[in-house]
Amino acid sequence: MQPPRRSKNPSNRDLDRLRSPDEARATILARVPTLGIERVALHQAPWRVLAEDLIAPEDHPPFPAATMDGFAIIADDGSPWREIVGDQMAGNVIEQQVTPGTAIRITTGAPVPTGADAVIPVEQTEIADDHVVIHGADLRPGANIRPVGADLRRGDHLLTAGTLLGPAELGLVASAGLVPVPVRRRPRVSVISTGDELIEPGERVGPGQIRDSNRFSLIAALEAEGADIRWAGHAPDARGPLNTLLLDRIASDDVVITSGGVSMGELDLVKALLVELARVHFRRVFMKPGKPFTFATAGEHDDVLVFGLPGNPVSALAGFELFVRPALATMARRTGWERPCVPVTLSHPVRPSDRIEYQRATVRVHPDGYVTGATTGGQGSSRLVSWVGANALLIIPPRESIYAEGERVEAMLLGAPYGPA
Ligand code: AMP
Ligand code: MG
Repeated sequence: MQPPRRSKNPSNRDLDRLRSPDEARATILARVPTLGIERVALHQAPWRVLAEDLIAPEDHPPFPAATMDGFAIIADDGSPWREIVGDQMAGNVIEQQVTPGTAIRITTGAPVPTGADAVIPVEQTEIADDHVVIHGADLRPGANIRPVGADLRRGDHLLTAGTLLGPAELGLVASAGLVPVPVRRRPRVSVISTGDELIEPGERVGPGQIRDSNRFSLIAALEAEGADIRWAGHAPDARGPLNTLLLDRIASDDVVITSGGVSMGELDLVKALLVELARVHFRRVFMKPGKPFTFATAGEHDDVLVFGLPGNPVSALAGFELFVRPALATMARRTGWERPCVPVTLSHPVRPSDRIEYQRATVRVHPDGYVTGATTGGQGSSRLVSWVGANALLIIPPRESIYAEGERVEAMLLGAPYGPA
């Protein structure tokens, strides 16, 4: 593979121009390739993205079925008692027919025998020898019978391409027999933590060392998005090994995510190397946390996405949430992935920054429908604990004055709102 030439990239000044989060996201989404389609067995399909529209191939249920355990009868048969002439269980069809004065014992889900037009629940009957007496039931024809096609008609639109296959969707695909199911290939992703100070979590910290946490945060975030993590590890702040590793991962994967090495320091090598081996689109976003953020495309077809996340753990996760997650969802042409934004009332004053700030917060819905947002304490970009228990990011636009308690701001919901404290 020939690395793209350096001349592909605009000047450093241009690359370092501050982008708004919206501009950064639009630039990324415009470069996102579409993942291919594969057909998989149902047990491999949970939480995958459906790749084609699905149409019901037949009526469901395919036969009129009892919805209760009881007796198949004729509704306006006036007989005081009826002779039990057979048993109709789920899973087969008996020859026996229901005629006036007779009944057939039937179980839920079993086909209603010929002649019968209603099912009387067993609770409303009394059985004496081979006879059944019906108690004061006001039975209409069709009672307790699910007619053919009651759930789905042949040709009905079942599911739309882009749908995430959860419990109800998978059940529907299974009951329509649409196997194997067409889904988007999972994106192949690698995660590279950079920094000479990093050690493995199981190791003892020496002077100046810290444990690598970004790799594991990112692995969890990626798993939640259905990524196929091909490689996750650590690289030193050394040009040669980092260059080799980056080229290797770019050649194998759809997405390469690094953390660290994208700020303004001498050893911020990721930033420097990407200019040589990729097409860099921008390097800074005017937001807090996570201002340093490199987005590049690379590889033979310039379609491998490279995200250079900042090293600070909160900044790295914010970059993932705001830019990498949308890219992964869009690669799979998934629909409905956007985080909902809702107005919330601040529970305390908030001091704005010089740029748009995303503050980790808890959003609660109160019994009167009142929705509040409160930050999770100190918002420093190394303070990972500020993300623990957060179900939202408060969006705090820059302005001169402090946001007062009781003011309304937008919150991006990362999960369901909590109830009252
Ligand atoms: P950098 O972006 O490389 O300048 O790193 C910024 C800060 O984040 C420094 O304090 C690093 O030690 C820290 N950091 C970088 N990578 C990681 C990581 N993988 N896990 C935890 N902290 C990190
Ligand atoms: Mg570093």
